[in-house]
Amino acid sequence: METLENKMRIGILGGGQLAMMMIQMSAKHNIDFIVVDPSDNPPASKYAQCIKSDYNDKDSLDRLINECDIVTIDFENVPSEALKYLENKISVYPSSYAVEICQDRLKEKKIFNKHNIPTTEFHTVNSISDLSLAISILGTDSILKSRRLGYDGKNQITINKYSAEEAWLLSGEAEAILEKKVDFKTELSIIGVCPKSSETIFYPLVENFHRDGILNLSIAPYNNTKLQKLAESYHNKITKELNYTGVLVIEFFLDKSGSLIANEMAPRVHNSGHWTNEGANISQFEAHVMAIADINIKNISINGNSAMLNIISKMPENILINNNYKLYDYGKSERLNRKLGHITVNNNDKKDLMKDVEKISKSVF
Ligand code: ADP
Ligand code: MG
Repeated sequence: METLENKMRIGILGGGQLAMMMIQMSAKHNIDFIVVDPSDNPPASKYAQCIKSDYNDKDSLDRLINECDIVTIDFENVPSEALKYLENKISVYPSSYAVEICQDRLKEKKIFNKHNIPTTEFHTVNSISDLSLAISILGTDSILKSRRLGYDGKNQITINKYSAEEAWLLSGEAEAILEKKVDFKTELSIIGVCPKSSETIFYPLVENFHRDGILNLSIAPYNNTKLQKLAESYHNKITKELNYTGVLVIEFFLDKSGSLIANEMAPRVHNSGHWTNEGANISQFEAHVMAIADINIKNISINGNSAMLNIISKMPENILINNNYKLYDYGKSERLNRKLGHITVNNNDKKDLMKDVEKISKSVF
């Protein structure tokens, strides 16, 4: 029998649904987890011991240093100082360097461009005069996005609804970028797993549909060999520069001319990869844990076609779930535009899958 002493222990900063599923989905590896989260009873606290504290709390970080082998994150807005403090003593994946870039839309866009990965045109905005000038160049079909702390479409202002002055005030005058709206055909994401000591393994491209800036539906695989290769090559350039270990996801627009335009990236498991729990032999959550724990991942393969529908704002009352569907309830209280759970669907036949998706959308939402 394994003793506590030789059992690997992973600390997770953030105890949301992503941490929860990392713990649930890697149960067979016999790894202990400790979660740090400032909120009361976050989703992961059901499955692991949870330290309720700020991410910067030195006592909590020291506990992770003393009790864990590795630390990872479940959301990218953890203070990078906390990661730097941990990094001096213990392995942290992803590194503070990678997280600092992904926390900042300007740095993210610059790293894409440095590697000749196309992005939409953008301008840095630090003042009302920057914003007026940027609008005069890009036009009003553009979006003001705060450089930091944006998620689920938050901290974004569509310019064509407001004057420059109104938009600047609404933005809280925070450092931002103005970017040109992309008239896209669809949105895609590439999920890559970077093991500690071998080449990146990719899931197939996922097609994503957003509503009001929030992911609503993901469908996988998006079969296109050329785009798959291109997305993988972009991912490889970024993770090489970041010396990355673990799962990293890049979100793209596919524009009307068929080009991939990088939108943003996440240094973590991602909502567009939730289908992998049922749709792949190894889920993104287990793969992330295996990658950072240096457990060999032989291969990743998928089963048929999968879809994932997010449950947002309100938990449906009468969910009829059958064997084709799986419901995840994060146990969170209801709040407007909050992600409360999701449903995954798996079907060998794409047409049948889409019928299932329609049925669920009608009956549940
Ligand atoms: P978040 O961090 O909130 O996910 P995103 O930049 O990914 O921020 O924006 C959320 C969604 O808003 C995108 O997935 C897309 O649907 C829409 N969006 C964002 N930027 C643009 C853009 N430049 N052109 C068109 N749609 C956009
Ligand atoms: Mg996004």
